[in-house]
Amino acid sequence: MARARTDKHFEIAVIGGGATGYGAALSAAKAGFSTVLFAPSARFAPGRTAALFHDSIAMLEDFGLWPDLAANAAPLKSMRLVDATARLIRAREVTFHASEIGLPAFGYNIANADLVEAFQKQAARQARLTIYAEPVHAIEPRKGEVKLAFGKGQKTSVSLVIGADGARSLARRAAGIATRDWDYAQAALVTTLSIEVPHQDISTEFHTETGPFTLVPLAGRRMSLVWVDRPHITDAAVKLAEPDFNAEIERKSRSVFGRMIVDSERAIFPLRAMLAERFAANRIMLVGEAAHVFPPIGAQGLNLGFRDIEALGQILPRLRNDPGEASAIDAYHRARQGDIRSRTFAVDLLNRSLLTSFLPAQALRATALALAGSVPPLRRVLMKQGLAARSQS
Ligand SMILES: Cc1cc2nc3c(=O)[nH]c(=O)nc-3n(C[C@H](O)[C@H](O)[C@H](O)COP(=O)(O)OP(=O)(O)OC[C@H]3O[C@@H](n4cnc5c(N)ncnc54)[C@H](O)[C@@H]3O)c2cc1C
Repeated sequence: MARARTDKHFEIAVIGGGATGYGAALSAAKAGFSTVLFAPSARFAPGRTAALFHDSIAMLEDFGLWPDLAANAAPLKSMRLVDATARLIRAREVTFHASEIGLPAFGYNIANADLVEAFQKQAARQARLTIYAEPVHAIEPRKGEVKLAFGKGQKTSVSLVIGADGARSLARRAAGIATRDWDYAQAALVTTLSIEVPHQDISTEFHTETGPFTLVPLAGRRMSLVWVDRPHITDAAVKLAEPDFNAEIERKSRSVFGRMIVDSERAIFPLRAMLAERFAANRIMLVGEAAHVFPPIGAQGLNLGFRDIEALGQILPRLRNDPGEASAIDAYHRARQGDIRSRTFAVDLLNRSLLTSFLPAQALRATALALAGSVPPLRRVLMKQGLAARSQS
C-alpha cells in the first residue's frame, strides 16, 4: 500500500472502499486518469452476501474478477415468491426460471467480503491507481479543483471526486446535494445456514406482513438468510438460543429446506431509504449507497450501484482533459437519474404493498402476482425488469 504524500495532485479521487468504490476506482484508472482511492479497511458480517445479476456479473468479468469469485459463487437459476401473509387476499406462489429468458442463471450469490477481496487484488495491479487506507476528513470543491484532507493532516487536490462513501456520504454533503430520507420501521437479520434439503439453486422470498424473509443459495447445502421484519422482532430473534432460532427459521420457511442450522454470527442492519436529489454536482459524482439506499428486496441495491459504475465506464473514457468539467458532471447526472429513480420507486412500492393493510392494494398485488405466474410474455418482461437486463431485452 502506498505511503500518503502531502499536496500530491491526482486527476480523480474515489472515496470509499466498498464494492462500488473499488469499481469506480478501476473504471477511472482504466479510462487513463491518475486516480487515488481512499479505502479504510472494512469488515463484513459473514452472512452479508449480494445476489448479483447477469449484467453485474458481466462487469465483474470485464474487470477480471470472475476467476477469483467463480468457485464460491452460487448460481441463482430460479426465484420463488411465496405469499406467506395471513391476509384475506393472498397471491399464488410464483417461480421464475432464468431458462425462460435464455439465461443459465439470473446471477450469482457472492459474499461481500469475497467481492471486495477480489476487487482489492485487481486494484493492486493497476499502475494508475494509488490506494490509501486512510479516511477522508474534508472535501472542498473550488474553482477548477477539489481539495481533500485525509489521514493525519495530509492533503491533496483533484479534478473530480467520486463519492462511494456509503449512506452517510461526506462527498454528498460537500457537493451540497440534498436527500430525501424515509424509513419503514424495519431491520434485516442476516446470517448463513446449513440446510438438510438441497436448494436446487432456487432463491426463495417468503413475503410476510412485516417484510420479506429471503433465503438465497450459497455453494453446497448452505443458504444466506435475509430476514426483514419489525425491529423488535429481529432484536428478539438475534437473542434466541441457537436451537430456538433454528426451529423458528425452519417454521418460517415452512420446512421447505428441512432442518436448518445457523452456522455463522447473526447480525442486524437497521433499514432505511434515501434518495439523493442529484447524482452529481460541483465536481463530485455519487455512486452506490452515497446516491441511493433502499431495503434489500429483490436484490437491487448493489446491482444498481454497479450500473452507476457502468455509466462511469461510458462517460470517463470520452473525457479528454478535465474529468470534473461541468459537462461531465451533467452527463453523469442525466445518465443515472431515470434508472435510480425508477428502481427506488419500484422497491418502495413492492415493500409498501407488503406492509399495507389496505385491501384494494392487497388485491392489486395478488392479481399482479397471479398474472406474473400465468402469462408467459408478462413473466419474461418482469424477469428482464427485475434484472434490469439491457443486454437481454
Ligand atoms: C441485509 C442486506 C442485504 C443486501 N443484499 C443485496 C443483494 O442481494 N443484492 C444487491 O444488489 N444488493 C444487496 N444489498 C445492498 C448492498 O449491500 C449495498 O448496495 C452495497 O453494499 C453498497 O455498497 P457501497 O460500496 O455503495 O457502500 P458501502 O458498502 O457502505 O461502502 C462505503 C465505504 O465507504 C467508506 N467510507 C465512508 N466514509 C468514508 C470517508 N470519509 N473516507 C473514506 N472512506 C469512507 C466506508 O468505510 C465503507 O467501506 C443488501 C443490503 C443489505 C443491508
